[in-house]
Amino acid sequence: MSPYDSPGTQVRAGRAAPLIDGFGRTVTYLRVSVTDRCDLRCVYCMAEHMTFLPKAEVLTLEEIDRIATAFVALGTRKLRLTGGEPLVRKGVMTLVERLSRHLAAGDLDELTLTTNGTRLAVFAGDLARFGLRRVNVSLDTLDPALFTRITRGGDLGEVLAGIEAAKAAGLKVKINTVALAHDNADEIPSLIQWAHGRGCDMTLIETMPLGEVEADRTDQFLSLAKVRKTLESFWTLRDIPLSTGGPARYVEIVETGGRLGFITPLSHNFCEACNRVRLTCTGTLHTCLGREDAKDLRAVVRAGADDAGLIAAIRAAVDAKPKGHDFQIARGGAPAVARHMSTTGG
Ligand code: SAM
Ligand code: SF4
Repeated sequence: MSPYDSPGTQVRAGRAAPLIDGFGRTVTYLRVSVTDRCDLRCVYCMAEHMTFLPKAEVLTLEEIDRIATAFVALGTRKLRLTGGEPLVRKGVMTLVERLSRHLAAGDLDELTLTTNGTRLAVFAGDLARFGLRRVNVSLDTLDPALFTRITRGGDLGEVLAGIEAAKAAGLKVKINTVALAHDNADEIPSLIQWAHGRGCDMTLIETMPLGEVEADRTDQFLSLAKVRKTLESFWTLRDIPLSTGGPARYVEIVETGGRLGFITPLSHNFCEACNRVRLTCTGTLHTCLGREDAKDLRAVVRAGADDAGLIAAIRAAVDAKPKGHDFQIARGGAPAVARHMSTTGG
């Protein structure tokens, strides 16, 4: 018997009522962190010396498949794998291949991935083969020395090769860039030009207060309202009504012909249209990125719950999805949410 032949993976989509929370929002998007580990240590994301989770605490690939499949049965149409770095998880392609059956069956519109790109050159072909159409690649600078400093040791060349491999495999690449007041503020326009020149959309992200890191976040914080103003001093930004149900607001830059997204969780409230929930690599379901709410689905699965039990646990968690988040960067204060982005998945 294959490890995937567990009763839970028999869940078929389209049978159950959709997942609607207490405020009438339908949950159709699941992000799954497949590992807390990473081959980089970005300064805004991780501490230099991280203690990673013991293997037993992390969901097995079979458990991830089972929980994700339950979500698909409950109307999830979009699934994003993230981390940590999803491509450093051993066997992750087996999971991608398994999950791709939902694409083939028409039960899922999109299976996608957020990656730092270091291993993309190795896996891009397989990702395309298993039905992925797009990937998000995080990249904060094109300066090799600065890249190494921001990521504490990363090699820019690997990421650039990964991006090229993804494009060659037919994947659309979106670049995610965290706006950092000191490190890349001045480089943002040229990064946008670079990305748009390669047919890649780009999204700028404000730093979010998730998890303890060494740097003072108020030092790194750069308001995207300010960035937008600067860009508007030399480019024409046209708002486009593209909504992903998430925190990004999009514009088209007339001069570059590309799209630019702004993710501004701190200065913007994006909660009314929120359609997403997050599963950590330990099986904890967070229905709001900015709050401490949590449902332990690993406990449910490991206690031997059948499909009905798993689905009931998911429904109860979604029913209690908070109305909105509560981020704040208080100088010198504790992060609003103690868990790191790498555990929750960005
Ligand atoms: N390792 C993969 C990557 O870097 O793309 C996937 C996981 S990473 C946690 C997902 C995204 O979260 C990345 O784009 C990263 O830049 C962003 N991120 C990490 N920590 C953040 C923070 N404190 N504030 C804002 N964005 C953050
Ligand atoms: Fe790793 Fe991504 Fe976090 Fe950077 S942002 S340390 S690549 S998980």
